[in-house]
Amino acid sequence: MRNRVALVTGGSRGIGRACAIRLAEVGFDVAITYRSLAHEARAVAQCIRALGRDVVTIQTDVARPEAVARLVAQVKHRWGRIDVLVNNAGIASVTPFQRLRVAEWDTVLAVNLRGAFLCCQRVAPIMTSQRCGSIVMIASQAGQTGGAFVGAHYAVSKAGLICLTKYLAKELASSRIRVNCVAPGIIDTDMARAFPRRALRALVQRVPLGRLGMPEEVAKAVAFLASEESAYMTGVTIPVNGGLWMP
Ligand code: NDP
Repeated sequence: MRNRVALVTGGSRGIGRACAIRLAEVGFDVAITYRSLAHEARAVAQCIRALGRDVVTIQTDVARPEAVARLVAQVKHRWGRIDVLVNNAGIASVTPFQRLRVAEWDTVLAVNLRGAFLCCQRVAPIMTSQRCGSIVMIASQAGQTGGAFVGAHYAVSKAGLICLTKYLAKELASSRIRVNCVAPGIIDTDMARAFPRRALRALVQRVPLGRLGMPEEVAKAVAFLASEESAYMTGVTIPVNGGLWMP
C-alpha cells in the first residue's frame, strides 16, 4: 500500500481519527476533514506525520455541495489521486419522533446521508479514471435495526447509507471501484458519551462481548475493506458491534 491516498471525512475525532491513523499505519497518505475543531484535526495530523506519511487537514461541512467540491479538488490537486474514501462524518440525535422538527430531520439527513452522496459523486470520477478505488461508508447498527435510543432521523440516515452502498457497488463495479460499509454498534467516542447515561449503560449490558467497542476496532474493519485483502467484496455491510445484533 505505498503512495496511496485516503480521504477520511470527520477524521478529527473518534472513529474517523482512528481510521485516518490506521490507514496511515498501513501506508496511505491521508486527507482528513473536520467541521469546527481545527485543533483536534491538527493533533491527528501530527500523529500521521510521526508515522512518516503526508497529511492534510481541510475544514469542510460535508452537507454543502460547494464545500465538498472544493475538498475533493484540493485533495486531487495535492496528490493527483484518491484511492480510498471513508464517509465517516456524522452527527447523532436522540430527539423522540413526536418531538422531531423538520429542521432537525433535515440537518441529520444532510450531514449523514447527503454528505456521503456528495463525496461519492465527486470522488467516483477520479477513481473511475484510475480504474481502481475503495469507498467505505460508516453506517450504524441503528441503520440495520431501527435503533435503540437514537432518533428515527439518525436510523433512517444510516439505513440510507447501507442502501447507497449497495447501489454504488453495482454502479461502480465495472470501473473496479468497490463500495462497502461498516455498521458499528456502541463505540467509545464523544458521540456515544453524549448519549443519556442510563440508556447507554443498559444497552452496553446487552452487548454479548460485555463492553463498548473502541474506535480502533472499527478502523481495522475499515482498513480491511480499503485493502486488497477484501478484493472480492463489494456491497457488503460488516457489523462491528460486539454481537449486539446479528444479521
Ligand atoms: P464524533 O462525534 O466523535 O466525531 C464526529 C466527526 O465528524 C468529527 O470529526 C466532526 O468534526 C465531524 N463532523 C460532524 N459534522 C460534520 C459536518 N457537517 N461536516 C464535516 N464533518 C463533520 O463521532 P464518532 O466518531 O462517534 O462517529 C463517527 C461516525 O460513526 C458517525 O457517522 C457516526 O454516526 C458513526 N457511528 C458512531 C457510533 C458510536 O457509538 N460512536 C455508532 C455507530 C455509528 P469536528 O471534530 O470538527 O466536530
